[in-house]
Amino acid sequence: MNPDFLVIGAGVAGLRAAIELAGAGQVLVVAKDSLRESSSEYAQGGIAVALSDDDEVELHEQDTLYAGDGLCNPTAVRTLVEEGPAAIQELIEWGAEFDREGAKLAFTREAAHSRNRILHAHGDSTGREIARTLYHKAASLPNVTFRSYAATTDLLLDDGAVGALLYDAAAQREEAVHARAVLLATGGLGCVFLNTTNPDVATGDGVAMAYRAGAEIGDIEFVQFHPTALHVEGAPRFLLSEALRGEGAQLRNQDGERFMERYHPMKELAPRDVVARAIVSEMNRTSAPHVFLDLTHRERGFARGRFPRIYETCLRYGIDIERQAVPVAPAAHYAMGGVWTDLDGRTSVERLFAAGEVACTGVHGANRLASNSLLEGVVFGARAGRAMREAADLAANYDREEPMESGRLTPADRRQKTIGCPTQRIAWDKCGIVRDAAGLREACLQLEPHAHENAAQVALLIARCALAREESRGAHFRTDYPEKRSELARHSVVSKDADVAFR
Ligand SMILES: Cc1cc2nc3c(=O)[nH]c(=O)nc-3n(C[C@H](O)[C@H](O)[C@H](O)COP(=O)(O)OP(=O)(O)OC[C@H]3O[C@@H](n4cnc5c(N)ncnc54)[C@H](O)[C@@H]3O)c2cc1C
Repeated sequence: MNPDFLVIGAGVAGLRAAIELAGAGQVLVVAKDSLRESSSEYAQGGIAVALSDDDEVELHEQDTLYAGDGLCNPTAVRTLVEEGPAAIQELIEWGAEFDREGAKLAFTREAAHSRNRILHAHGDSTGREIARTLYHKAASLPNVTFRSYAATTDLLLDDGAVGALLYDAAAQREEAVHARAVLLATGGLGCVFLNTTNPDVATGDGVAMAYRAGAEIGDIEFVQFHPTALHVEGAPRFLLSEALRGEGAQLRNQDGERFMERYHPMKELAPRDVVARAIVSEMNRTSAPHVFLDLTHRERGFARGRFPRIYETCLRYGIDIERQAVPVAPAAHYAMGGVWTDLDGRTSVERLFAAGEVACTGVHGANRLASNSLLEGVVFGARAGRAMREAADLAANYDREEPMESGRLTPADRRQKTIGCPTQRIAWDKCGIVRDAAGLREACLQLEPHAHENAAQVALLIARCALAREESRGAHFRTDYPEKRSELARHSVVSKDADVAFR
């Protein structure tokens, strides 16, 4: 039977929305891999919230606006920081166990935060703990059902209906599912790039599907490159959390020189884009494929106690971070842009909602403040859930017919499954950390023929919007326009029916 609500994605945003929706009808949550495979599961550092004794929501607001480099939607930022503390209290009530010092919550510092405001769980498994809590809460509610290995290949928006085409990998069957409202909570797009910290599920499907369905896409040129991903031959680009630098880890080049003081007064704790570009510059200068992250000056036992997951993972690849500096290089990490929504997750398409990393409320502006995205998932996931309940009331006459099964459908080409080989290379080389018009134009030409694939379509949107944004701001850096331009302190918006415009 068709559900009342279809939630596409089982990360923090989808799970949080599902909890909100459970009281209003049948909720189906689908994930294209196992239910656990998501960026949420891998989020290490923590979740930012103004809850410590010396913190205030205004300070969290200021830091977020500063990181966003003049492009944040101030109302979205205010909503995030104001609703954050209650969202965390709720998680704690539902069983989330954040690390504590005695009875008090323990807060750490990350780059560009003016206070210690990062909550963490089991040292460096914060996302896993939050996702676990939300999953158990959602699964305890009678109306919520889950389907893993069920990938959405396209949205269905015929004759006022809203739904999606699902490919069930186990049954090797395709079916159309309709609902009163659909939430895109498909997460990020890091896998569009050759080097990424993201899990394999993060191929930008939500953005590509929404674009094909006619929805507006906002600020998609803003991709955050994390400065410090593990760079070892044959190993995944495992993230080495900002919190390591927060705890004193130093960046050194091939000559052993601590170089960040030459680039920014905040040194290793400068904004992420500054650190990423500084690393690229040092790699180019010394003709090296990586730099080093060095925590060896901390006392023995510290790293394995504070960062057990990072410690174990590096050890698996032959590096004891308590004794050796770790080879690191930047990798695509987080999408500030996405499907354009209001603060309640409404997209430009009726009864299609989006929340979490796939959405663009403008809360992160041109660059995300570290650890604001898990918070974004819980705050805006809940808001989208509430708005979907209202939308469902309006669609009360919707017909709960049986889903259509395969055989009656033209098999979709499962666009999200494949990433054409050239896409990641083109995106990395031409739409990456350092951009210019010539490279972006080439990227457009080279990606166009592959735009039927989700990843290539997303890379093409990034290239087109990056080309239109003739300035440098936040995570978007152009050598041919190295300065910020006040007339471009606006959001880029593009859709299938309209070229890139700024609003
Ligand atoms: C390594 C790493 C570390 C991070 N550390 C932090 C941190 O410390 N603090 C912080 O705030 N943020 C961190 N982030 C960012 C943060 O984890 C993400 O932005 C956030 O978890 C996104 O949540 P989400 O619910 O929007 O998406 P996700 O958690 O990525 O979930 C996406 C879901 O969508 C599903 N999906 C995708 N496509 C389809 C499809 N076609 N059909 C069906 N299902 C689909 C996936 O299977 C998955 O269930 C980190 C990210 C990474 C990768």
